[in-house]
Amino acid sequence: MHWIRLGNWELEVGSYIRDMSECLFCRIIAGDIKGAVVHEDNDLVAIKDINPQAPLHVLIIPRQHIATINDLRAENDGLVGSMFRAAAALAKQHGYSERGYRTVFNCNREAGQSVFHIHLHLLAGRTLNWPPG
Ligand code: AMP
Ligand code: ZN
Repeated sequence: MHWIRLGNWELEVGSYIRDMSECLFCRIIAGDIKGAVVHEDNDLVAIKDINPQAPLHVLIIPRQHIATINDLRAENDGLVGSMFRAAAALAKQHGYSERGYRTVFNCNREAGQSVFHIHLHLLAGRTLNWPPG
């Protein structure tokens, strides 16, 4: 994480990246930056995480730029449901439905959110400890 201090304010630099032009995932979705795409539909793009934390680590990303889950509105309920259904379908496709898998949304600093465009992590292929770190 990168931090800057402004008077009494300590700001995470990443928190500025809330508009589409600066957003890594918007740029991947637009095709400006290459991503390893494993699923695409009208609303979602799923890519392999560049720094995988499990044998299967996929990020399910809405095409619509929404910075954090704090920014979700009732009109996004269907979109969020489709993110979980995509995660379940990808887990099934890779043979992890019965073994088990984990889905995670990180929100803001203490949860370690580093890209401010919501994304659902899908992790599978190893025993996943609880509680998480
Ligand atoms: P979070 O920390 O929850 O915001 O998750 C961001 C995730 O994006 C991390 O797991 C990173 O490894 C991943 N990531 C960062 N850059 C890329 C990239 N260019 N392609 C794919 N995944 C990325
Ligand atoms: Zn974005």
